[in-house]
Amino acid sequence: PKRHTRARIFLPHLVASMEGVEQTYIMIKPDGVQRGLVGEIISRFERKGFKLTGLKLFQCPKELAEEHYKDLQSKPFFPKLIDYITSGPVVCMAWEGVGVVASARKLIGATNPLNAEPGTIRGDLAVQTGRNVVHGSDSPDNGKREIALWFKEGELCSWEAVQGPWLVE
Ligand code: ADP
Repeated sequence: PKRHTRARIFLPHLVASMEGVEQTYIMIKPDGVQRGLVGEIISRFERKGFKLTGLKLFQCPKELAEEHYKDLQSKPFFPKLIDYITSGPVVCMAWEGVGVVASARKLIGATNPLNAEPGTIRGDLAVQTGRNVVHGSDSPDNGKREIALWFKEGELCSWEAVQGPWLVE
């Protein structure tokens, strides 16, 4: 007689809590696209456990870059910053998850890549502030503001990830 029994799949009755869930705007800057780092950067947020809710390749118009960085308007590097951000396509992303705003900032690392820890995106992949490959919102309010600025409503997806209860209790 065959002693083979079919393996059982365990279906847990678990639900992930929504507590602390935030949204952040992450953007791969033109240097990150030109250097072929798109997959590498996206995979870091995926592996951490965050959920992608918006994604597009986009040539940013000057007005949008100026609006996005309006708090830096008075800085001497502002014109150079606008030239940089509009110099080629960027990858616009909305990510969702528990504590995603601060966590993404940690994954990205310090503004100046020379001060960014190894293991962070800027620490591993960049050398200069003016070419620091990626942007991440600095507060939950700015996360919402920036997602609304860069995406139209129909471009975002609300979906349930199967890994939910295995990431968050
Ligand atoms: P972060 O992107 O880490 O939030 P900031 O909000 O201070 O940093 O600055 C926004 C972006 O402006 C930086 O990521 C960088 O691309 C650019 N920037 C900041 N400071 C300088 C500088 N001194 N020289 C050139 N570019 C700068």
